Amino acid sequence: MSQRTLILLKPDAVQKSLIGEIVGRFEKKWLKVVGLKLMNMSGALVDEHYDFLMDKPFFPSIKSYMTSSPIVALAVEGHESVKVVRSMCGATNPVDALPGTIRGDLAKNIDNNIIHSSDSEETAGKELARFFKSEELFDYGRPLLG
Ligand code: ATP
Ligand code: MG
Repeated sequence: MSQRTLILLKPDAVQKSLIGEIVGRFEKKWLKVVGLKLMNMSGALVDEHYDFLMDKPFFPSIKSYMTSSPIVALAVEGHESVKVVRSMCGATNPVDALPGTIRGDLAKNIDNNIIHSSDSEETAGKELARFFKSEELFDYGRPLLG
């Protein structure tokens, strides 16, 4: 089933010049880029996005991390994309993430784990609407591929 999912390249991905490397991995997996932008996350947006972590002792550090520099919001479309993207990202803690996954290859620790992706189709719907206006998401075919 084709579906869309939201990916965030967190501030460390942008600061380490890994935007192309990470977006390229999804493109090579044949996921279609349907939304892409550089943006700053406001404190209010972090509160909304990570509201389920608000009571955790590490929430203040997540907030300062996510607002420390721009992020890239990326929307991709493809067969079972929620599951495919989650597995390409790897375990939340880069120490546990397998080699070959984005966190396994490119991230160092759980405080700077480089990437976010939606964890279900329902969450993806909410998160896509949180980060993209409808006119920032594109429907298109790929006729040039023949
Ligand atoms: P994400 O939602 O960012 O894709 P995830 O779904 O793998 O990651 P969640 O449980 O949703 O993991 O946690 C959201 C984010 O909160 C993590 O990506 C990480 O940045 C941070 N986080 C989670 N657990 C911890 C922890 N124990 N210590 C520090 N930060 C944590
Ligand atoms: Mg999560």
